Formats: sequence, structure tokens, C-alpha cells
Amino acid sequence: MSTGELCITGLVVDLVRWPLKMKRQHGVGGVQHEMPGAIVKITTDAGITGWGEVAPWSVFTGTAEQNVSGIVSYMKPLLIGADPLKITALMSEIDHALTGHSEGKAAIEMALLDIVGKRYGMPIAQMLGGYHRERVPLSVSIANPDFEADVAFAKQVSAQGYNIFKVKTGFAGHAQDLRRLERLRELLPETAEIRVDYNQGLDPWTAIRQLRDLEAFSLTFIEQPVKRHQWDAMAAIAATIDTPIMADESVFSPSDALAMVRQRFADVVAIKLMKSGGIMRAREVSAIAEAAGIAGYGGVMFEGGLACAAGLHTVAATPNICLGAEFYSSTWVLAVDILEDPLRIEDGLSVVPTGPGLGVTVNEDAVRRISVARHE
Ligand code: MG
Repeated sequence: MSTGELCITGLVVDLVRWPLKMKRQHGVGGVQHEMPGAIVKITTDAGITGWGEVAPWSVFTGTAEQNVSGIVSYMKPLLIGADPLKITALMSEIDHALTGHSEGKAAIEMALLDIVGKRYGMPIAQMLGGYHRERVPLSVSIANPDFEADVAFAKQVSAQGYNIFKVKTGFAGHAQDLRRLERLRELLPETAEIRVDYNQGLDPWTAIRQLRDLEAFSLTFIEQPVKRHQWDAMAAIAATIDTPIMADESVFSPSDALAMVRQRFADVVAIKLMKSGGIMRAREVSAIAEAAGIAGYGGVMFEGGLACAAGLHTVAATPNICLGAEFYSSTWVLAVDILEDPLRIEDGLSVVPTGPGLGVTVNEDAVRRISVARHE
């Protein structure tokens, strides 16, 4: 395979505001009406275009604005004129140039992989080793502050074949969380998998007593009960509670994953491209977890079609990310889809794209409609 035959000629970033269809409430904060993000377009002298997406959440990873300025001021100068096929070299230059900005780095790596996949006619999942799975079981989040609306929603999607539900807890009080879980266990079929996600919503000194009350619901896992850096409390909870404990906010990077293994502070881990800084690092997190017998889950932020597609390729090619995924935000949560053909969900399963690169086509008019600032 020859290299040096492609050259990056342009990079455009749109700071966007996604309008939302659904209100969401989490232990770490709520969102309604709109969510900031950014879309990256990298052009080459061969006419091949790569797309990437920044999907941050200010209370979780960082802000769209900081990532846009990180891309424009620090990453773009390293990319213009460079060979997009040299992805690992470019990403390590970017890592040396600026710390943090995991979402911006994920977007750039996504766009470079999109270019390489299109250049060689190969989907990203194939570049990562091939499709271990072509469809991914979809986990539906129950996170509407109006619980009755979620009850109706859960009934509707359950009837359509969806079987994995993740209940967001820790924002309305313990008694209310127990009532919500009782109600869902009653109305959903016995075969339904229920998981809960506290998004850091519990205090360490009361967490174990409260989580003991959840053991009766046969939950698949309990996600991120306490604050992200309370690793000791996570370890105590994981050692005490029978239901598996999932780390989400507590594990961003491969080195966090190593700490998770050494301190045994989780039994399962949520893997997100926006936390790790891209697909390669997400696979490193998964590999470290796998070596310790810790299974992965394909998480998302409030992600549009590009980031969801990148996540699907990652899960498709990474056997250890076996606990399903939640790649429905681009079609169900965001009110604008920038893909010409929305990502498909069939029979409760997300369908992994099969075309070259990300395997999706961007509707540039839709990007313009949600753009609030363009940096060319
Ligand atoms: Mg989570």
C-alpha cells in the first residue's frame, strides 16, 4: 500500500446547535430544547471528503466551543498539507499539541478514518478487523422527567421488539427511583433487561444502602452510582453489591481503564468515543477491560448520525463491547438528522453501516441549518 498520495487541503468546522425532540434528565444534569455540538469536514486534493462529529456535554466531557477552538487553532495547522492516511502519526502529533479535547480528537480521527475508508473502498468496521456483529442490540434510555410519558414510550417500544431498557436514576430521590423501577418491571415482559444509570447521582455514604434495595429488580448492571473520581467508593460498591457495577464517567482513557482494573472499581464499562478521544483509544480501553474480564457497553452522548455511525463501526468490530449500545440519538432524540439516509434500527437492533468509511452520506444543507458559526 503506497502512502503520500493524498493531501489534506481544507478543514471546515461548524459549531452547531441540535434541536431536541425529547427532554432528558440525568443524575448529572438535564437537557431540553437544544444541545451544542460541532461537525468537521476534511477535504483532500483527491476529492475525497471525510466527516467527523464533536458530541460533547458540558457537565460530562467538555464544551463544543472549547473543542471548536481546539480544532481550529491547534489541530487544523497540523492537518493542512498532511497525508490523511497517516492517522496514528497525525493523532499523536495532535496529542502532543494539546491535552484534553477528547471530543475534538474523536471528530478528527473519525474524519481521517472516513477518508481512508473511502480511498480504499472499505468500511471502518472492516478496517478494524471486520464485522464481528452486523447489528447491535439497542438499549433504550428511560430519562424523561415526565415519567408517565416514559411509561407510554416504554410500552410502545417494548411492543415493537425492544428488550433493553436503561433507567436514568438519582435525580428525583430514592423512593421515586424504586417506584419507577417497580412500575417498569410490572409493565415490561419478564424477558426485558433493565439497567440503571445514576450518572454520579448518589453520595458515597448512602450509596450502598440504597443500592441494596435495587438487587431485587434483577438489573443487568448499575451504572456510575457516585462521582467520577470517587474510585474508592466505586470499588467498595462493586465489592459489596451483587449487581454488576458499570463505570462510565469514571473511565475516559486507557490509563483510567488500567486504574479500573487495578482497583477493581467496576465490573463492566461504558465505552464512548467522545470520552476516549476516538475509535483507536476506545478499543484500547476495551482491550484493557477485556484482559481483566470486564465487558463493555457502547455508550453515546447526545450524538448525531456521524458519531453514532462511528460508534456502530467500533462496536461491530470489537467483540468485548457485548452489552448492547444506545445509538438512537440521531433519529429519536435530535430533531434534525444530518444524514441523507438515517441510521437504521430494525427489530430492536441498530444496523451497522456497510459502505466505505463511515458508510453514511451527509446532507450539507442540514448542517447549514443547525450551524451557528462556521470556521473555514
Ligand atoms: Mg452513563
